[in-house]
Amino acid sequence: MANSKFEYVRNFEQPDNLLPNTWIVVRIDGRGFTKFSSKYGFEKPNDRRALDLMNAAAKAVMSELPEITISYGISDEYSFVFHKSCALFERRSSKLVTTVVSTFSAYYIHLWSTYFPDTPLSPPLPSFDGRAVCYPSVQNLRDYMSWRQVDCHINNLYNTTFWALIQKGGMGNLEAEELLKGTYAADKNEILFSRFGINYNNEPDIYKKGSVLFRAYELVDPSTHNAAAEADSLAEPVQLSKNQTENDKKRRAKASIVIEHLDIIKDEFWDRRPWLLS
Ligand code: ATP
Ligand code: ATP
Ligand code: MG
Ligand code: MG
Ligand code: MG
Ligand code: MG
Repeated sequence: MANSKFEYVRNFEQPDNLLPNTWIVVRIDGRGFTKFSSKYGFEKPNDRRALDLMNAAAKAVMSELPEITISYGISDEYSFVFHKSCALFERRSSKLVTTVVSTFSAYYIHLWSTYFPDTPLSPPLPSFDGRAVCYPSVQNLRDYMSWRQVDCHINNLYNTTFWALIQKGGMGNLEAEELLKGTYAADKNEILFSRFGINYNNEPDIYKKGSVLFRAYELVDPSTHNAAAEADSLAEPVQLSKNQTENDKKRRAKASIVIEHLDIIKDEFWDRRPWLLS
């Protein structure tokens, strides 16, 4: 096997190791889910079963890849954040992306019948694309997360209004689209409230804010947050011995993965969970 005359072909492979000491985000997105969601009769604008399935598959990915610190999901997409110190697969982009995509797809299909017991899957089966992007600073990473959550908000407000006009207002798709052209957020809130009695603020958080998955440690109270409290808490202290680092790694791997639907744009979420970005 080794040293055969064919082995030179390995030299055609291109290195694709991602920049060291940067946060790696692998974002996956369902292929052709507009069609897929209509084939399986997803409720519009938000099918709760489909979101729960996405979240369950994402949680499984996080359990199998402890290097993932936090994940964020909306619609048919999920972003997985690998810690900047991650050394998995020597940080090779193709290895990271394909492993996330195939693990996610496998669980999505494996868990399908739990969430859609009455509609068995048939080909073409659901599949996902993926990409990896490096973010060099915590600010860049937080801006990335904020970007996705703003997208969630804009799309959900639009979709909620659009589908209310159709389902409750009896409009056709084109008519609803025409009516919403050029409207601002305030206009959509007003349409929802005055025409349909819907207060957008009361819509479920999972639709308005998307889903955040992360490993649960002790929460830090921002008001008592000081150096001593930090060393006492399970948040990573500034200086760790090799042993402590190993222990911390184990603790992270063991920590349960929780799901929340809350604001990740403001500081509070991150201030209370300093281990996520340390
Ligand atoms: P592409 O292959 O380019 O990603 P796509 O059809 O998947 O094409 P997206 O921009 O990814 O396009 O949009 C996702 C589609 O899936 C949207 O039409 C969205 O309404 C639908 N969808 C995803 N999740 C849900 C859900 N939980 N409930 C209802 N519809 C959903
Ligand atoms: P990596 O994650 O690095 O790929 P790996 O354990 O998958 O690690 P490979 O070099 O890909 O390592 O080797 C594949 C392994 O799977 C080998 O140990 C091989 O013997 C085993 N394997 C694969 N297919 C078969 C098969 N059809 N019958 C028996 N063993 C198999
Ligand atoms: Mg896409
Ligand atoms: Mg898609
Ligand atoms: Mg999408
Ligand atoms: Mg292998």
